[in-house]
Amino acid sequence: MNWSMSTEELAEKVNAKKKVILVFSPHFDDAVLSLGGLLAKKECQSLVVTCYAGKPKKAISTPWDSGCGFPNSDQAVEARIKENELALELLGAIPINLQFLDEQYRTLDENLVIIEDEIYKGIKTTIQHYQGLQAHVYGPAGIGHPDHAIVHRSFLKVMRENLEIGKMEFFLYEDYPYVERAGSDNFENALKRQDGRDYEKRSIPLTESNLDDKIRSILHYTSQIRSVFQCDEEYAKAMIKSYFTSRCHSLTPPHVACEMLRILS
Ligand SMILES: [Zn+2]
Repeated sequence: MNWSMSTEELAEKVNAKKKVILVFSPHFDDAVLSLGGLLAKKECQSLVVTCYAGKPKKAISTPWDSGCGFPNSDQAVEARIKENELALELLGAIPINLQFLDEQYRTLDENLVIIEDEIYKGIKTTIQHYQGLQAHVYGPAGIGHPDHAIVHRSFLKVMRENLEIGKMEFFLYEDYPYVERAGSDNFENALKRQDGRDYEKRSIPLTESNLDDKIRSILHYTSQIRSVFQCDEEYAKAMIKSYFTSRCHSLTPPHVACEMLRILS
């Protein structure tokens, strides 16, 4: 595990606030894409734990990294760590990088069951650091990308073990932009199919300023914008704004924008 500051420094910073938000992000940009508005509220100390922040032992070149302008994995991961630090700094969140390899860096013969178990242990160990605190813990719904599905299943396992313990509350967040591409009904069906459980929707109302900060933070992932949104920065900004403002149409009283969560009902 690679903490961006020492465990003692981190614990001191978090303990001073008594309350903590922990977001498990499969890739570098997922927490901010999905929950940047929540983080922008800065209601307590937040930590963003990126699961696939590892660098292959030997630099390799992949189609995704090449499409993002990187000649090899070393340069891609180093640049993406810096982008993530800038994005999270804007939201007052602390980055924690776990050293798992994302799908593009794995070989076909790697055992996904073992990887999932390792990620489960990584999530569990991270959460254990904050067990005495009032913690809100967020993991991906896991729709739209195999890496997200692995983190989702690992997160669910930890969530089930911890539901009855202490002051922790667990939530699933919608994986943006996959949730938009899947469509609302397909997303709900896919979520239901994963483990047959019923989830209740919970909205996080965002102010204009929360949404602006979320968008500014997303734009720090400069290398990824064109590949993730298939368009330039200006159009991507409009897409993000349009999606998160559209999530509030059915809410009373109306809100500027919302991010949506699921909790076990
Ligand atoms: Zn992702």
